[in-house]
Amino acid sequence: MENMNELYSDIILEHNQSQANKRLLDVANISEHGHNPSCGDDITLQADIQDGVVKDAAYTGHGCAISQASADIMIDLIKGKSVEEALRLVDLFLDMIKREITDDDELEELEDAIALKNISNMPARVKCAVLAWHTLKAALEKGQN
Ligand SMILES: [Zn+2]
Repeated sequence: MENMNELYSDIILEHNQSQANKRLLDVANISEHGHNPSCGDDITLQADIQDGVVKDAAYTGHGCAISQASADIMIDLIKGKSVEEALRLVDLFLDMIKREITDDDELEELEDAIALKNISNMPARVKCAVLAWHTLKAALEKGQN
């Protein structure tokens, strides 16, 4: 386990470089803007929700490596999930960042997002890591009303 931090950095780097989820959707019924003034991260999240399921999701915008990687990781995770399940995963992620849940078994279903766990040791970067997740949550909660 000694190379765990290195492994996590690789996951973040990989997702930062991935452009797969960084695009505009042709069909989207949810769109939400998120901004983190402390770093300058600025994203717009889009999702296509059909029958309560996240059919597709993507983001556009700019920001630091952490904010971009986090958005990419989150979209991989929630695509194909029900809105309810996506919201539950967002809360699980936020609880991990707040260190309210630290058990790796419980966090396993966050998949690659677990790579962002140690961000909680870097307070200045926490807002970068949670930006996409807060933006998604706001978007989905609006969509449910
Ligand atoms: Zn940032």
